[in-house]
Amino acid sequence: MHPSLKEILDIQEYDMKMIRLMRLKKMRLAELDHIDSLRQELKKQQSDKETEIAELNRGIAVQEAKIIDIKERLKKLEAKQASVKKVDDFNALNQEMSSSERERVATEQITSDMIDKRNLEEEILEKIKESLRQSEESSQTLEKEIQENIRVINQEGIELQSARDHLAKKADPEVLRIYERLLKNKKDKVVVPIENRTCAGCHIALTAQHENVVRKGERIAFCEHCSRIHYWQAEEEVEETTKKRRRRVAHSS
Ligand SMILES: [Zn+2]
Repeated sequence: MHPSLKEILDIQEYDMKMIRLMRLKKMRLAELDHIDSLRQELKKQQSDKETEIAELNRGIAVQEAKIIDIKERLKKLEAKQASVKKVDDFNALNQEMSSSERERVATEQITSDMIDKRNLEEEILEKIKESLRQSEESSQTLEKEIQENIRVINQEGIELQSARDHLAKKADPEVLRIYERLLKNKKDKVVVPIENRTCAGCHIALTAQHENVVRKGERIAFCEHCSRIHYWQAEEEVEETTKKRRRRVAHSS
């Protein structure tokens, strides 16, 4: 293996851990967002419902004032009727009174319908408030869990970063720069072994000539297909990796 790759491989281990950690953090943050958006949705429903009820109450007040006016008008007409002497006038007043009476009945009906609607909306509002309470209660525990988890992730991230920084100081700056540029593009392992004369990164077959260059480790060799840096694993390391992989497969099945 090219001597400068040893530190780079260690750095890569830290970077892979960091990438996994940041993915995890992103997921957890998305969960928090989701909980919050559910709560915001319920709050919006609550405030919409409250506006609707307030509008209905204003409408009801207008109708109730109208009923009072009609009743007063009717009283005046009644008083007037008592004092008229002509039959024609009496009949005209009678007509006016029955029309006002019809108006009163209709207005009362409208008001009563509006009150029914308002009561129904108030029941719905109570249900919304109740689900908001319940969701706040149940999400509190979950949110705390997630926040604690994020705190641990951040702590772990700081530790990883400082260990990585420490290693980076020891690494060959030129190779480190190349490695970091590749990592930025791929966001995945960019220093990979050759396995069965195949790139472990892109899985495309390599030439024997290329394999020889990597095996000698005299210079940094790049995969001609994916630009990753290749290194040669000693036999015992290969066995170790295979064992690890087998264990992992056994674990996941
Ligand atoms: Zn490749």
